[in-house]
Amino acid sequence: MEIKNIYSKTTLNNGVEMPVLGLGVYKTRDGAEVENAINYALNAGYRLIDTASFYANEEGVGKACRSSIFPREDLFVTSKLWLDDQGYKKTHIAFERALDRLKLDYLDLYMIHWPMPDLYIESWKAMEELYNAGKIRAIGVCNCLPHHIESIKEKCEIKPMVLQNEFHPRLVQPDILRYCSENDIQLQAWAPLMRGQILDNNVVATIAQKHHKTAAQVLVRWDLQKGVCTIPKSVHEHRIVENADVFDFELSIDEIQQIDALDREERTGAHPDNFLEHFEKKGVFTKS
Ligand code: NDP
Repeated sequence: MEIKNIYSKTTLNNGVEMPVLGLGVYKTRDGAEVENAINYALNAGYRLIDTASFYANEEGVGKACRSSIFPREDLFVTSKLWLDDQGYKKTHIAFERALDRLKLDYLDLYMIHWPMPDLYIESWKAMEELYNAGKIRAIGVCNCLPHHIESIKEKCEIKPMVLQNEFHPRLVQPDILRYCSENDIQLQAWAPLMRGQILDNNVVATIAQKHHKTAAQVLVRWDLQKGVCTIPKSVHEHRIVENADVFDFELSIDEIQQIDALDREERTGAHPDNFLEHFEKKGVFTKS
């Protein structure tokens, strides 16, 4: 993966090029907040925006993308299929609804947000059809372990192009990295800053000081040097600019290993094999 500047892209297993760095917009409010964040990001050189129907801000994301001075083909817009929308027919309906909210003609990347037991395979088959129909340039999955992807490979026609998982120094997942590399699936990190929870870590702070960079910049750079695409979220212009200013320094192998050693297999979100309970407790999903 080439990481020369903010415009650097990785080539997915179907030949589509995806920016290595993007803006996440989870918990960014629809309307002015998300529109401003996207404007700041596009001005700073970001071209990838990562949203989801669950974030309830697709309208604002679409509005900001459509009104930007950049042509649609220069942007890379990702959205995701939520839990309630899974299953073959429902996936088709949810996808059309997403396009409708975004008011875009196609998505660059559409992903299964979480692998709903008994339903994600049928959802994937619908996504394959949408992909084959040219409505999505690349399809992927989030929050999956190798066994989920192996099931897709066994029962479906198309292998995911992207796996988006929680990934930060407290959750390094060397097995997932190896699996992705062996299967030519691009890993993309969500919560790359561990939602702010690791920015005051001593190891990260010492490395940051040495490079005259911030902890957030070290974490973004660590992802990229490990071959992991990354989508840090902020609503603040100075942080959006800061998080992308990572192309003028390089972490040494020793520094990368020091950060790798912070791994505690610790998650901020749910485990891919046990997420329904997590979302039921949060009240955002009810088993029917
Ligand atoms: P991040 O690790 O990106 O952390 C975001 C938090 O860090 C926010 O509170 C932000 O605050 C703060 N922050 C950002 N930049 C800085 C900085 N330079 N210095 C200090 N604090 C900073 O967490 P997310 O959970 O948002 O993950 C990133 C993206 O991944 C999401 O926005 C979403 O697009 C995607 N995602 C995908 C999931 C999935 O299941 N597929 C699950 C969760 C996220 P502020 O905004 O106030 O600046």
